[in-house]
Amino acid sequence: MLKQTLIVLSLTVIGIGIFSFTLNRKKSSAKQKIVRTIIVDAGHGIMANGGHNGAKGAYSYEDEICLAVSKELVKMFKEQMPEIKIVESRPTEKITAIHRRAEIANENKGDLFICIHVNAAVPKKQTEISGYKTVTYYEGKGKNRKKKTKRVPIYRTWSIPNPAKGAETYICGAHKNDDKELAVRENAPMMQEENYKKNYGDIDPNTPEFIALSLLKTKQYFKRSAALAGYVQDEFAKVGRVDRDVRQRQVGIWVLQATAMPSILVETGYITNREEEDYLNSKKGQEETAACIIKAVKTYITWLEKQQKESGNNDNTIKQNNAGNISSFLQSIEDREQLNAVK
Ligand SMILES: [Zn+2]
Repeated sequence: MLKQTLIVLSLTVIGIGIFSFTLNRKKSSAKQKIVRTIIVDAGHGIMANGGHNGAKGAYSYEDEICLAVSKELVKMFKEQMPEIKIVESRPTEKITAIHRRAEIANENKGDLFICIHVNAAVPKKQTEISGYKTVTYYEGKGKNRKKKTKRVPIYRTWSIPNPAKGAETYICGAHKNDDKELAVRENAPMMQEENYKKNYGDIDPNTPEFIALSLLKTKQYFKRSAALAGYVQDEFAKVGRVDRDVRQRQVGIWVLQATAMPSILVETGYITNREEEDYLNSKKGQEETAACIIKAVKTYITWLEKQQKESGNNDNTIKQNNAGNISSFLQSIEDREQLNAVK
């Protein structure tokens, strides 16, 4: 009975939480566009000590390219999609702290988070035989011990620039349990926003209910992030860039995990490849890269609208999926209760 009461109680708490969350979404989403706010995040930046943060090429720095491409992207967004609010999380050459980037994204209630970075590959070690030398060694024991000589090669090693090239787009991996837990842990502090209570009711972030909701959100964002990342790579391939595909990183891209919205991180090319360093430092390269991302965002919006139309829901699908999954979540609590009862 106590258990049943507990189930009813948790059901009510979740219900109220979801209800107020839904109400809030509804209020703010009247006649809304599917993507209203995009956060453009230029990677790295100049540190307080004046040094560059990020990878280094033959003559340029990653943070400079990130800013130039981001500025191009912002300009194009404003020209081509003026209805969308664009927020820059690193608008100047100065670095923005990683946690601050996530805060900016969440405070502005971004619908998309796009990080611009430049890749780097470690130089390749080369080895060759540069000559031979004669070394002395001994064979046998006692009276039979004989002095012998042999010729051995002398090796010369050096490194050459790594020829790796191409663009790749990262999303936050969410298929391993560990990663999900990490994502939830990272997401918890940013859920404690000012209007947290209004949005999420009395759900405590440490309760299984809250964690389950966070996991569902992570899953939903994962699908959208993966879709956008795929479109970005498609566009890069169309303009003849080497397509290194969509990659998942399990840990390490904190900012992708800490943003409560679909997020991608675009590695626009290799600063350690001279040809790509030149390309990314050129106006043409920067414009082309930004144009690819814009086209991908447009395809993404069309895809999202189609998805929502198909599901017969013009509001937020996250809400719907959460609501749908809440019943299965409750079912799992019930199953667990029954299992305990059998024990
Ligand atoms: Zn970077």
